[in-house]
Amino acid sequence: MDKVLGLKCRECDRKYPKEPLHVCEFCFGPLEVDYDYEAIKKSISRQSIEDGPQSLWRYIDLLPIDGEPTDGLNSGFTPLIRAKNLGDALGVKEIYIKDDSVCHPTLSFKDRVVSIALSKSKEFDFDTVSCASTGNLANSVAAHAAIANLNCFIFIPADLEVGKVVASLVYAPTVVGIMGNYDDVNRLCSEIAGVHPWAFVNINIRPYYAEGSKTLCFELIEQLGWEAPDHIVAPAAGGSLITKIGKALKEFQLLDLIDEPQTKIHVAQAEGCGPIVNTFKDNSDFVKPVKPDTIAKSLAIGNPADGIYAVNTVKESGGVGEHANDEEIIEAIQLLAATEGVFTETAGGVTLAVTKKLIENGVIGRDERVVVAITGNGFKTIEALEDNMPEPHIIPPQLNAFRKLMSNIA
Ligand SMILES: *Cc1c(COP(=O)(O)O)cnc(C)c1O
Ligand SMILES: [Zn+2]
Repeated sequence: MDKVLGLKCRECDRKYPKEPLHVCEFCFGPLEVDYDYEAIKKSISRQSIEDGPQSLWRYIDLLPIDGEPTDGLNSGFTPLIRAKNLGDALGVKEIYIKDDSVCHPTLSFKDRVVSIALSKSKEFDFDTVSCASTGNLANSVAAHAAIANLNCFIFIPADLEVGKVVASLVYAPTVVGIMGNYDDVNRLCSEIAGVHPWAFVNINIRPYYAEGSKTLCFELIEQLGWEAPDHIVAPAAGGSLITKIGKALKEFQLLDLIDEPQTKIHVAQAEGCGPIVNTFKDNSDFVKPVKPDTIAKSLAIGNPADGIYAVNTVKESGGVGEHANDEEIIEAIQLLAATEGVFTETAGGVTLAVTKKLIENGVIGRDERVVVAITGNGFKTIEALEDNMPEPHIIPPQLNAFRKLMSNIA
């Protein structure tokens, strides 16, 4: 079955072959994968998916590779946690955490997109993979490239968190730190892509890569017993995840896997870098680039590639955009840890802090079902919390000392 017809321009619908292309020659619009849904409908069912592997590849019929998957065989299918303690704390009845902080192998949702990008890059016969990254993508591309025995070049802003830098270097790629922000890194990479015939997962492979984000939404629907929730709150950097959550809901409905979803998709960004959310706050029709200044570095993209598509996806669903400041981000990280035992990075703090606001201001009803997309792991951004934690109690190894401590803290 040839389920992928090719690529299609999102603006002018002009068709392109299945090649490592990402922009329309005609109108410079972004290209997107074009599926033959009639053909897919004949082979896909809830049962066929449930019989598939315990990874994101259970949705292979809706992923743009031609052969068998060769990368990310253990990625995806992360827990959906029924968060009772968190629900009590926030005063909402039914809240779930989609926990991509434990996605295999690099503990962020980027392992989803990279699984598709590298499987596809191998189909295209690239021997070198690369990316422009705010950190998590770098970790993931480096790890997956190591598994696949591919050459790997990583480009990141030079001022990333130590955890994110080390978690790329350990896989032994070539890591290049750029003196600038992500938008500078991305611009440079577009130029390098013109000179070196490499698979830049989020540039020339982007149409394929981006499809991997859909699997986060496919999974949470399946995990809810094939029901779409009332609300999904998700973070945005480049805006791809948000856009693809919208696409995933539409595809499952189109293929009769779920009833017509009423899901409102809400977008969360940091106050210090919220170009997508700003369009909601300013009631504007275009995404105005900003200069990032936030502890949520994984979301610090000032000029988001899919910004306007993310805005349209959220609006169409009836959702809203909301910010969180640095203090609220840290509070939310602590709240999630203290209630559910999930230690998320700053991006997760943004998403939960925004969820809290949406419950407080009534956008999310207290009886409604809400899923919060927690997309990264707190062990990578320890420094964001360091100054907000109490010191451990240091004592000599003597029972008396412990007795004394207990009487002091009692
Ligand atoms: C990259 C990233 C996102 C957002 O991804 P986009 O698709 O670029 O909007 C969200 N959370 C984390 C932790 C990320 O690393
Ligand atoms: Zn076009």
